[in-house]
Amino acid sequence: MDGTLNENDLSRVVSADKAHVWHHLVQHKPFETGDPRIIIEGKGMRVWDQNGKEYIDAVSGAVWTVNVGYGRERIANAVRDQIMKMCYFAQAAGSIPAALFAEKLIEKMPGMSRVYYTNSGSEANEKAFKMVRQIAHKKYGGKKTKILYRERDYHGSTLATMSAGGQDERNMQYGPFAPDFVRVPHCMEYRKHELGLDHLSGREFGIAAANQIEEIILREGPETVGALCLEPVTAGGGVIEAPEGYWDRVQEICKQYDILLHIDEVVCGVGRTGTEWFGYQHYGIKPDFVTMAKGVASGYAAIACMVTTEEVFELFKSNPSDKLDHFRDISTFGGCTAGPAAALENMAIIEEEGLLENCTAMGARMKGNLNALMEKHDIIGDVRGKGLFLGIELVKDRTTKEPVDEKHVMAVVAECGALGVIIGAANRSIPGRNNVLAFSPALIATADDIDAITDAVDQALTKVFG
Ligand code: PLP
Repeated sequence: MDGTLNENDLSRVVSADKAHVWHHLVQHKPFETGDPRIIIEGKGMRVWDQNGKEYIDAVSGAVWTVNVGYGRERIANAVRDQIMKMCYFAQAAGSIPAALFAEKLIEKMPGMSRVYYTNSGSEANEKAFKMVRQIAHKKYGGKKTKILYRERDYHGSTLATMSAGGQDERNMQYGPFAPDFVRVPHCMEYRKHELGLDHLSGREFGIAAANQIEEIILREGPETVGALCLEPVTAGGGVIEAPEGYWDRVQEICKQYDILLHIDEVVCGVGRTGTEWFGYQHYGIKPDFVTMAKGVASGYAAIACMVTTEEVFELFKSNPSDKLDHFRDISTFGGCTAGPAAALENMAIIEEEGLLENCTAMGARMKGNLNALMEKHDIIGDVRGKGLFLGIELVKDRTTKEPVDEKHVMAVVAECGALGVIIGAANRSIPGRNNVLAFSPALIATADDIDAITDAVDQALTKVFG
């Protein structure tokens, strides 16, 4: 870490932070006695805090974001050049990087055609929700306004996206929520007993889990259901890949009942799951809407995209004499050129450095290491995920699958931090549950980085659980 801040500057930063910053997701009471962690610098996979302590960041900026790693000069240069030339103009007009990034993105997404720029994952999801509602009015006489979402999935922090929120811990005390959002069951094989489907496995289970969505559609009335919104691999809800057979059946159901399929790639998108650019591309899914945010520019600039098909776009340009016919929506900062300028470089880096392939290889190595830890630590009930998007579920007993206490999970996270590795915890489906250790290192991770992360997890599990 370079010493650009002296000790006085640093203590001023810490005091200012303690006095005035309201951190996201954080319970602030502990800061009254201790200090917040302030991240001063990052390079590659590593970050340094205000005390000069070095960490391997195994969660890419805490929330699976910095896919290409820290300190990328070429992204900084591209953003600088772009904002000096033209920093902002509302997206009612075009910009060079917005046009070029849209073209590049669509090249990676066969079947898709239009990119709507915005600046957060929540907002991108809201745009799709609004389109679904408008389509209900345009095409279905005001019916088909309902949007189905899945238990454990998360789609954002705004009130409408929370109305589609499958994680109760995040939602409690923020209601009432928007109407016409309907929850469907999760599809997690490890906890299939919760679905009454423990007699099934593999493909049979996957089809039965999807059929539970059909039951809800029939209960609600298919003529009232406009869209189904799902994460391709559930992130904060516990790192959950859908079982075999699930996606084919989901798509059949959507087709049968004329329901639009919205895939939330806010976490999975732009390489995180390895080999493919997007999570949905592993499973033969043909979505109507795809939303993405975190990895689009790896956090170097705020950018999110709502991507849809020409068929959907056509619905919004059919009648120029009708003042209400188009999508009457704007996102002010969707017009910032820094976002697509950074996103273009980010994508070029992933291509030139072969990071989709590296993600697959390092993901396999990490999963292998975690499976080896499962043999050693009975507390690990399940190892899962795809690419460099992995989780391990901690349970008191492998037969009952009773989750370990959250305080012990947080102790493992803290112990890894003390060992110089930042990891995360996921699963906010039920308050106080949070029993999944989550890993999403940058796609540049080396074998040594991966082994260092899993060694720290091994040591931390031994310290906390023996
Ligand atoms: N969708 C998913 C799957 C997410 O994990 C998140 C954030 O973690 C969001 C949407 C919301 O994105 P943002 O925080 O950028 O609004």
